[in-house]
Formats: sequence, C-alpha cells, structure tokens
Amino acid sequence: MKRLSFLVFLLFFFSIPVKAAGILAVCEDGRLPTNCPRNSIKFPTYEITGNRTIVEYRIDPGALGDFNSSTLESSVSEILTKWEDISSLDIQAEGNGFIPFDVNPSNYQSILEPSSPLGYSPIVFDDNGAILTDILGFGARQDVLGFAATRFYTTRNGAIENIFESQTLINGFLFTLRNRPDFNSEAEMLDNFKTTVLHEFAHMVGLDHSQGGQVDDFLDLGSGLSDEQKSTFPVMFPVAINPTLDLQRDDIVAMNIGYPRNSIVSGTASISGSVINGNNGVRAVNVIAYNIDDPLGELVTSVTDIDGKDQGNFFIPSLNPGTYVLKIEPIANAFVGGSSVGIHAPDSNTSSIPSAFYNGSEDLLLGLNLEQGLSQAFPIVLTAGQELENITINIGEEPKSFSLRGRAVNSLNFLNVGRNSRANLRIVKEGSGTRLITLSTPNPELVSFSRNPVRIGVRRNAKRVRVRFRPFNEFLAIFPSLSSSTIEIPITATDTVTGDSVTTNIEVF
Ligand SMILES: [Zn+2]
Repeated sequence: MKRLSFLVFLLFFFSIPVKAAGILAVCEDGRLPTNCPRNSIKFPTYEITGNRTIVEYRIDPGALGDFNSSTLESSVSEILTKWEDISSLDIQAEGNGFIPFDVNPSNYQSILEPSSPLGYSPIVFDDNGAILTDILGFGARQDVLGFAATRFYTTRNGAIENIFESQTLINGFLFTLRNRPDFNSEAEMLDNFKTTVLHEFAHMVGLDHSQGGQVDDFLDLGSGLSDEQKSTFPVMFPVAINPTLDLQRDDIVAMNIGYPRNSIVSGTASISGSVINGNNGVRAVNVIAYNIDDPLGELVTSVTDIDGKDQGNFFIPSLNPGTYVLKIEPIANAFVGGSSVGIHAPDSNTSSIPSAFYNGSEDLLLGLNLEQGLSQAFPIVLTAGQELENITINIGEEPKSFSLRGRAVNSLNFLNVGRNSRANLRIVKEGSGTRLITLSTPNPELVSFSRNPVRIGVRRNAKRVRVRFRPFNEFLAIFPSLSSSTIEIPITATDTVTGDSVTTNIEVF
C-alpha cells in the first residue's frame, strides 16, 4: 500500500481538452493549446460580472465512502469559502443544492458527460470508486482522489469566451478508512476530503496544476518530508501532499489571475520575461519567484510558454513588495497527462533544462540549494505597482542577431563537370533593425556569393544569397578525395556590427 503516499488529483477533459499554466488554456476552436493557430489561445474562466463571478454547483445526494450526505454537504460549503475569501468568486449551491439522484455507474454519463448543460456544475460522489474504475480502468481507484473538467463554454462567433459548466468526481474508495492505513482517524480523512474538493473545484473554474517551489524535495523524500515542509506545498500541486487546508500564496495568485480580488492584487508587483536557449524559447520550465524573507510562504510560480507563442514567456503576478530571487527548473517527468503542469508536457528537450538560479544579465547559478540560492542569486527588489518586464534567462548559447537557413544548409550539393553549380542560402534576421553580414569561406577560388556583404534593411527580415560552386574538375584538383567521397566546405557569416558569426558546412560531391 506504499502507493498511498502518492495519491494524485487528476485533471480531465471530457469534450474539449484544455491545458495551460496558471489558468487553463484552450484554442478558440477548441483544439489543444499546443496546436493553436497563431494568437488564438484563450484562458477561459467563468464570466466575471462587475467584480463578482457566480459559480453554481450541486452535490451528489449519496454517500462517499465513510461519509454521509450531511457531512459531505457541510464540508463542501465550508471548504469552498476558502476560495471565495481570496478571489471574486461567489460560489453558490444551485436550487436545493443536490443532483436529482444518487449518481452511480449506471447513470453517471447523464451527469458527467451530458449532451447539453445541466444548469449547474455537478460534484459527483463516487461512493466506492466504481464510476472512476469505469472511466479510468481497474486500479485507478487506489491512486486517484478525484478529477475535474470544464465541459461547456459560452462562445461568440465560434470563439470560446467563458466556462459555462464544469464537473468533478471524488473517489469514495479513498475516503473509506479501511482503505487508508495512512490515516489514524475519520477526522484526518475528512480533512483530506476537504483538500480534494478545494483542489478539484479550482480545476472546475479553470486553474491548472502548479509544481510549486520545492519539487526536488518532493522527488527525493516523497512522504518522508516533514509535516512542516509538506504544509508549504501548493494545494494545486498535482499530488496530495499538503495535509493542511491552507491555500498557499501560489494558489491565491493563480486564482486571482482568473478572478481578481482588489485586496489581494492591489499594491503588488509582477515579473515577466522569457527562458531561451540561443534564439529559441524553451517550453515546460517552472519559473519560481522566492521572497528571500519568507521563501516557502511567499513563492509564486509560472510555467514557460504561458501564452502559447513559443517564445518561452513567463508571467509572475501579484508579488508582495520585497526582495525576490528567480529559479528555473524542468517540469518533473512524473507530471504528465492528467497530472500535467502548463501547456507542454516534459519532452526530450526537458533533460537540457538546468535547475538554476538567475544571476542577472542572462547568467545562471548552477548546483545551488535553496538556502544558497537565496543568498547568492541576483536580488530583485520589487516595489508596490512595479511591473518588471523582459527578464531574459538563457540556458544555452548566446542569442545570435541572425541565422542561416535554406537549401544550402546541411544539404548535399552536386557539382557539375565543366560548369558552375549553385545553392541558395537564406540569412534570416532575428529581432529588429538592420544587419550587414559578411560571408567568407576558406576556399574563395572555388566558392563565391551573389552578394557580399549582405545588407538586410529595417523593413526586411531575410535575404537570399546564391552560393556558386566552380566545376567539379576544379574542386578535384584541390580536393583529390572528392573522387571517392563527399567533402565539406565551411561558409561563415559574420555580423559586422555585433561580431555574431554562424558557420555552416555545405557538403559537396
Ligand atoms: Zn488536479
């Protein structure tokens, strides 16, 4: 029963799959946000009217494991006030507050997968986990506390606007004391039920998971963490680890992205920027801002590519004034599927993402623990209302002012006998302004360019250069090995202002 220490909260989507960071994302046309056409990504929330957002729910009238209906009813309404207290949410029981019948394996589809809206967002109590087993398969009821999904949206001109209705299921197999050797009493188990409702309800209104600020400790120690350490994990961590019912700052900030409450967001500051590798944005990076005076109490996270623009952008709002340090780390490989964090799952690039603290000017400090990072990393002092933008964290190569692309790059070029051959090289400007690029090769007697230097003006973003190769017999005179194998001719392009240079080898035979 060791697996009980890793009970997970799942995030599911029955009809429209939605995923993102902080607030869940969806494409305007309902596709996965990772496949959105440019600029069509949306972060749907329930509709905000004035400064209130009304969410109407009903609970299952049946039992859940060892808990009877009246315990469940009072626990749900009690715990949901935690979200109301820190946001603009106004969470109400709709009608008499109960789904019209006890939801069971033979009728759940009409509630969890209805073909039209029900008029309320249902919270289903799966008495012994039989519905969960039907949906997720045998074994799931021993690991999964519950799941949530957003199912109906309001749309305008076919584009998704707001969440209209959502639903959740809580797994009663795990709220049966004989199945929970990790609990000493029903009271402990009831707190776990309340935490689960707190977590799943946040998904219902559009919140994603958070990796928090101490995932390494979690991966190293798991349930061996001290109670004090566990108590600082966000409620939106994908795994049920925090035994308290306390929302963490990271949870509160995420909810206030969707449903801002003036007393929470006013007088705060923000940090935004991007994590890049050379000229490319990096996905699936957890960016953490730690307040150095209370690092585990006042930490806020963002996952890169929060806007789906593939530029590695992150955004950390609602930071109380103070001094912060930034840390980056990969999203853990365990957090995929229903446990995922952010738009992108960890992939083959994730292994190149370091765990590191930001040291200003794109610089990184590697191999530090939290205590060392807090004292050694670049301190960012934030004042009330400050919006610190354009923080760039580079995990790899220096960004270049241009790149080389085209048919000539990394391609094989046939040389002709008795006449010139040619290939096209494209020089692509990164960023704005003008570029003056000089081309060179160690074999100018064999290779020449249609223009050199190459000027790219303010209004253009690329220019094509024709690369001319002398006839095969002239190459053979200098490279005798060409008779039996290919050779590589390096071409180097250099920005005359920045000195950035890119070398590409053109293979010829
Ligand atoms: Zn979850």
